[in-house]
Amino acid sequence: MLAFEPQPLPWQLAQWQQLIAQRQQQKLAHAYLLHGMPGVGKLHFAQLFGQLLLCLKPNLETASPCQQCKSCLLFNASSHPDILQIVPEGSGKPIKVDQIRQLIDFVAKTAQQGGYRVIIIDPADAMNINASNALLKCLEEPGRNTILLLLSERTSALLATIKSRCQVLAFPLPALSVAKAWLQQQSLADNDLDQLLVAAHYQPLTALTFHKNQRLKQRQALQSCLATITKGQKTPVAAAQEWQNEDLLCLFDWLVDWLAEMIKWVMAKDETFIKNHDMLKMLNYVSSKAGVTRLYGYYAWLIEQRQRLLGAANQNKQLVLESLFIGWLHLTIY
Ligand SMILES: [Zn+2]
Repeated sequence: MLAFEPQPLPWQLAQWQQLIAQRQQQKLAHAYLLHGMPGVGKLHFAQLFGQLLLCLKPNLETASPCQQCKSCLLFNASSHPDILQIVPEGSGKPIKVDQIRQLIDFVAKTAQQGGYRVIIIDPADAMNINASNALLKCLEEPGRNTILLLLSERTSALLATIKSRCQVLAFPLPALSVAKAWLQQQSLADNDLDQLLVAAHYQPLTALTFHKNQRLKQRQALQSCLATITKGQKTPVAAAQEWQNEDLLCLFDWLVDWLAEMIKWVMAKDETFIKNHDMLKMLNYVSSKAGVTRLYGYYAWLIEQRQRLLGAANQNKQLVLESLFIGWLHLTIY
């Protein structure tokens, strides 16, 4: 069930020790809010802590699950009856009240292995208002030996009443050197780690996913494609045809990222704002030619369109891509 080795990630040791100490003093809270950027391993942390609570013979010295007891075996087979993970039913979909009712039923039963019951809600900010209200009652009195772990990237989207009932655990981004060392441990070559981390906003797990999905190659291809459009060597329609088979959300993510950098560049005239050094020349050219108004206009369109993509299943891909590339071309033509 865990995606990584059964230990906290190197930048999560303080949070881990905090929970271990609370457990030893029998002062664990009923509910924790684990918040931080995506790609910092909040889910891994929550699952590992869940496994440790469920483990029948935890190693007290290392504070780690034994991996051999019945509980650990069930956990590793993703079939432990006393851990419940609640996630949206699809990307961009909300967590609904029916799912929280399932949680309430789960809490009402006695733990089948006689120990803790662990509930992970990922991400908690995906709960709609009915789901949030239903959860509130459970957060007040979850019952003995029941721990709720709420994961969130946007705690501003959570009800204040939910936040106030949780103990907060922050997961900041690790230092660059720590992230790089960890990626090396995952057998990633040293030469493109910097670029990978920049592209992944310094989020180590996101960087790992980018590496596995060869996202840097896609990024370079998009970069070249945009350059040929700017130079008038390719039309937006032709470019749209070339990108038909790619994940649209990824393209929007890259562009949102670059536009944000260009806006900062134009506003502050400060080169240090450009983290994508390999694109310095192009980003500088386009941003100075476009000017801040056009940059903001395109940026706002990208954000809005990206949001729309999350919600809709049947988008006309060709049309969306044409608009995307026309918008880019429009930045540099008068
Ligand atoms: Zn165990």
